[in-house]
Amino acid sequence: MPHDTALVWFRRDFRLADNPALRSAIDAAEHVIPIYIHAPDEEGDWAPGGASRWWLHHTLAAHDAALRERQSRLIIRAGPSLDTLQHVIQQTGATAVFWNRRYEPAIRRRDELIKSTLSGTGIEAVSRPGNLLSEPWEVTTGGGGPYQVFTPFWKNCCLREPPAETLPKPRAVNGPASWPQSIELAELRLLPKLDWDAGFYTRWTPGEAGAQVLLKRLMQEVIARYDESRNRPDQRGTSSLSPHLYFGEITPRQIYEAVTSEYGPPAPTSKGPKSGPMTFLSEIGWREFAWHVLYHFPDTPLRPLREKFAAFPWRTDNQALSAWQRGQTGYPIVDAGMRELWHDGWMHNRVRMIVGSFLTKHLRISWLEGAKWFWDTLVDADLANNTLGWQWIGGCGADAAPYFRVFNPVSQGEKFDPQGDYVRKWVPELSELPDEWLHQPWQAPDHILKRAGVVLGQTYPKPIVDHAEARKSALAAFDAIK
Ligand code: FAD
Repeated sequence: MPHDTALVWFRRDFRLADNPALRSAIDAAEHVIPIYIHAPDEEGDWAPGGASRWWLHHTLAAHDAALRERQSRLIIRAGPSLDTLQHVIQQTGATAVFWNRRYEPAIRRRDELIKSTLSGTGIEAVSRPGNLLSEPWEVTTGGGGPYQVFTPFWKNCCLREPPAETLPKPRAVNGPASWPQSIELAELRLLPKLDWDAGFYTRWTPGEAGAQVLLKRLMQEVIARYDESRNRPDQRGTSSLSPHLYFGEITPRQIYEAVTSEYGPPAPTSKGPKSGPMTFLSEIGWREFAWHVLYHFPDTPLRPLREKFAAFPWRTDNQALSAWQRGQTGYPIVDAGMRELWHDGWMHNRVRMIVGSFLTKHLRISWLEGAKWFWDTLVDADLANNTLGWQWIGGCGADAAPYFRVFNPVSQGEKFDPQGDYVRKWVPELSELPDEWLHQPWQAPDHILKRAGVVLGQTYPKPIVDHAEARKSALAAFDAIK
């Protein structure tokens, strides 16, 4: 063994299985010390939001418990990261530090500095592939540059070459004779002061074991018909794996392996109708693409990839923004989505697109305001996916929907929530309305509203904008920058 003691620095990789840094540390050192260092100031403009902090608290607890089952534990410290690592190295006599890569711009800068500083003092500092199928610099266009269009990226990524095989859970993680001190998890104060997270507890089980339960559910109940069910917010037709993927409790390699071992590898051409499993894998591909774009265009979390959108005449309207955030726009499918987000810390992808279109087109409020709100309220808030998602719907990102495609919230609701189950769940004040009027209560005859106990403007808002007028003015604003 080259080392007596090594640190494994856990960051967004709270799992034992398929963990390259943990595997390398176990192979290289007699004694392994798992450590987490809380340093939100080092995340640049994107310190974890409220919902992410809730998840982080619980995943740290779950990870510590999983390590303890292997006679190890998780040492928790508060940053700065470099000082803390140096301090723990000095205390324990460790001669190596292993970690899995993260790809956010601020974290990459920080990690480069940490690596060179530690290496300069004779410590072996090793970074291993993070939580992607391939490293963002490995997939390039014919000209050697980054991709900005999904389909050729995906064809050149895993459709050409399968990802590396997954690593099993280590049987043992040998600790040191004497453990360095850890602070109590509660000292990080990650849980909200406001009683807002009750719904999170019923919906989610943070941690590696919780991720595996969802993977099993995906394989048994969802994947075969995923191509049909994925657009239906009224059904549990998607995997709900996004927060587990973000926190590295499961890897895309594990998911890829589970899917392809049952259904075979994805076909190299995208011709013909897509099956559930292949459509699902291509969504994992969109996640890869989002990290590829963020890696190569690190300014995109604050600036549109398509530069002409920097001059777009966005509106400032705090009242409308607040109505959108609170699910009080008067458009039932929009309000249902925003309330699901607040209650569960998550929103169905189809509805993310509908509420995103509504904010950036009907209200003409910048995609960045939406991205910030999602950042604070989503348990799966992910800098790459969130930036790509918002720039996609705002028409200003990589392979984006054109800005002039304005979703009609009424027809979207009727199409994707046809029996109204989703709206009735999240907007219960409309639950007695017949299906015909549920997605457009302002059109319902007075006697129908009365019978359903709906008084527009009192029990439920009137629409804050008129769809046709809002659409017209969004298109006129777009004309100004075309
Ligand atoms: P499934 O349909 O089961 O998909 C499996 C996995 O594939 C997801 O967990 C996710 O990792 C990935 N994936 C699926 N769709 C996309 C997509 N369109 N782009 C990138 N990856 C995708 N996803 C996040 O993880 N974090 C975010 O902060 C985020 N913000 C978004 C903001 C907007 C405006 C939009 C339109 C989309 C956003 N997405 C984000 C993408 C997508 O909505 C979620 O990944 C998905 O809803 C998560 O649910 P699921 O795990 O059940 O997905």
